[in-house]
Amino acid sequence: MEDVIIFGATGSIGKNALDIIRSNKKIFNVKALCTNANIAVLKKQVDEFNPKYVCVADPVQADKFKDVLKKGVKFFYGLSGLKEFCSLESDISVMAISGIAAMEPLLAHIPHTKRIALANKEAIITGGKFIFNKAKKYKTEILPVDSEINALYQLFKSDGKVERVYLTASGGALFDYSKPRVAKITAKQVLSHPTWKMGRRITVDSATLVNKGFEVVETNRFFNIEYKNIHVVIHRESVVHAMCEYADNTIFACMYPPDMRLPIGYALFYPQARMTVKGIDFSKRFSLSFQPVSFEQFPLLELVIKAGSEDNNKLTVLNAADEIVIDYFLKGKVEFKSITKILFDIYNMCPAYMLKSVSDVYKWDTWGRGKTMELLDKLC
Ligand code: NDP
Ligand code: MG
Repeated sequence: MEDVIIFGATGSIGKNALDIIRSNKKIFNVKALCTNANIAVLKKQVDEFNPKYVCVADPVQADKFKDVLKKGVKFFYGLSGLKEFCSLESDISVMAISGIAAMEPLLAHIPHTKRIALANKEAIITGGKFIFNKAKKYKTEILPVDSEINALYQLFKSDGKVERVYLTASGGALFDYSKPRVAKITAKQVLSHPTWKMGRRITVDSATLVNKGFEVVETNRFFNIEYKNIHVVIHRESVVHAMCEYADNTIFACMYPPDMRLPIGYALFYPQARMTVKGIDFSKRFSLSFQPVSFEQFPLLELVIKAGSEDNNKLTVLNAADEIVIDYFLKGKVEFKSITKILFDIYNMCPAYMLKSVSDVYKWDTWGRGKTMELLDKLC
């Protein structure tokens, strides 16, 4: 039995991971579950999977939760509780906390697990080198769950020198909208993604292609591929997740229906391959399309890649700004186009500094949040 800990159990990735475990209870034991505040969903998960350890990071919700827990379950709460929770030992841990909030638990937990199935991308794009250094030191395996990066991980196992890679992008919910229509877009429209069901922030990031920019940076951080050899291509169907091109121009593509359980299952069952989703049905006619991406249509894609390739503090600041402005947009306080405006403004006003430690990452994250709030105060 493999002991599994899930950080961010109540989110989209966390629920998918538990779905896989539900069908493989003889292989995986859910040792511990952690969430921020969603105690209603957590309660159901605890009743079903009987973890020995549970953590609720939000102190207010934690207070309501501790009385409903069964005897024998050890409960951790608040920030100090989360810190303690991170030193629980596991065979595999799924890191599915969203945002930069994942960084601290991820770094703290690396010495205590053999493998991390890493869904979170914000920690990698801001503090990737510190995470990979620590994982190397403690010989902890990090397997990417983000589907495009996971596809590349699988593809790199085949022999041959990879010259360049292609990441596919569905184009998000607004791809076919005209500019004036995009200007009046509501949160509900942005949140109806054509192919994937995901958390709210990543769904908005898919519409601006900030998410794809992050994945370009993830690809660089995970595999050391130069930015000039990482290409983005629009592929509306989300069946091809990534492609590798070899020196003779042969391309290998990784294909499966858009369902995150496949890359999560890959990271859980690795190095074995087990079925987690229905495969592609070739008995029915279907077609796949590819088209070039336009930086004019998606200026934030270019900006994020630029910030990533500068390898300084700017991407940390952009990530912080993006999280806050998306929150404002989803609450109806600013228009969709403010996301682009704020990110360009913040990029231009941010002085460039190298990040020498994780505390530098936090420092610039805080700076980015502060400046973004100032800019938003003027806008609202
Ligand atoms: P969701 O918003 O659906 O879930 C986030 C989870 O993290 C929830 O369980 C939430 O708890 C928890 N959480 C948030 N903040 C904290 C905190 N401070 N402390 C403890 N727990 C916290 O996000 P997704 O599942 O969509 O995404 C998770 C990560 O995976 C993101 O980094 C995303 O970019 C990445 N990813 C997601 C994909 C997807 O298909 N969804 C695909 C590829 C990558 P609560 O519910 O209580 O708020
Ligand atoms: Mg992805």
